[in-house]
Amino acid sequence: MDKKNFETIAIRTQAEQSTHREHSVPLYLTSSFTFDSAQHGAAIFDGSATGNLYSRFSNPNTDEFIQKLCLLEDYPSGVATASGMAAVYTSLVAHLQVGDHIIASRNSFGNTLYIVTKLLPKMGVDYTLVDIDDNEAWEAAVQENTKLIYLETPSNPTLRIGDLSFIAALCTKHDIISVVDNCFATPYIQQPSEFGIDLSVHSATKYIDGQGRVLGGAVLGSEKLISVCYDYIRRTGACLSPFNAWILSKSLETLAIRMDRHTANALQIAKWLEQHPLIDSVYYPGLESHVQYNLALQQMKNGGGLVAFKIKGSDEDALDFLNALELHSLTANLGDTRSIITHPFSTTHSKLSEEDRLVAGVTPNFIRLSVGLENVEDLISDLSYGLEKIKN
Ligand SMILES: *Cc1c(COP(=O)(O)O)cnc(C)c1O
Repeated sequence: MDKKNFETIAIRTQAEQSTHREHSVPLYLTSSFTFDSAQHGAAIFDGSATGNLYSRFSNPNTDEFIQKLCLLEDYPSGVATASGMAAVYTSLVAHLQVGDHIIASRNSFGNTLYIVTKLLPKMGVDYTLVDIDDNEAWEAAVQENTKLIYLETPSNPTLRIGDLSFIAALCTKHDIISVVDNCFATPYIQQPSEFGIDLSVHSATKYIDGQGRVLGGAVLGSEKLISVCYDYIRRTGACLSPFNAWILSKSLETLAIRMDRHTANALQIAKWLEQHPLIDSVYYPGLESHVQYNLALQQMKNGGGLVAFKIKGSDEDALDFLNALELHSLTANLGDTRSIITHPFSTTHSKLSEEDRLVAGVTPNFIRLSVGLENVEDLISDLSYGLEKIKN
């Protein structure tokens, strides 16, 4: 059979049918699996036979979820994890040891930076942080003992772009493992494998679930690198639950159609914000005014569902704006059918010093918008109403 296209793979890849011939894939809610005979059990244990043994190792639902992701992102192997952070942590810890050095983008998810700057040093792993779009800095940071390079593109929350071809070439040259957090773009919008990135990491909690229900994650890559990650997950227990895998695999069926609408809504809102007199600046990879517009479109199918902007005004004005909104949810999540608005300065980034927040681009008037699937005219009216309420 010819290789199918994205939507078909996402919908038609499925776990082996049970004897009941269900059309919708059933949920295999079981912690362990039986053997056909004592000999069969022995063969599964010694590796001469394959088969499910225990759901911390494998389960038809987690297998289906991972198989889909591997086909969608064109990686030969993958492992499902309990959350996005379990995937991030595994991609790092499984490959690092005392004396290693890593280079990570400063513009990364807060908990990822915590792992890099607080947990890894306790294990004897040193780090250098660089600005995601400063290729010279990436190159200059390479040391003799650099083992891994980590970035997230587009980055949270300022939507800056890392140059995937450049990073992959740098890593090949110096025999370094490249890891990209592909959460914001999703497999539909960006395929790190196409650029030669070794490992793609996901928080499936965001757009892959897309409806704010479950946590999950995945690491995708070569058989060699993933077997190390799989061993780590299987032994330490940060595996994805069958229930969450079942939800996430079903969610992948609608990822393409959802991302198209998230993007269409986001682009329309970004353009509307750009011409609004109370908006200082808009950051959206799909806008020509984005400083890395050309690079973004080389790597990404489109700009995705997140928009960031700065209002003209203070911290207090930003909070007045948020409080006036009736439709947008005030929460720190993203990638949901429901539009979500976040003030990173006082929430997700509040634990950083003011100076570090400014370095990260998180000023008091900075706002992150995860554009949902509501009617875009209704979203724009809500934002318009909120901006009118700024008292200055
Ligand atoms: C949310 C998020 C994570 C962590 O994922 P969880 O599923 O919440 O553990 C990692 N990276 C990015 C970019 C995220 O947005």
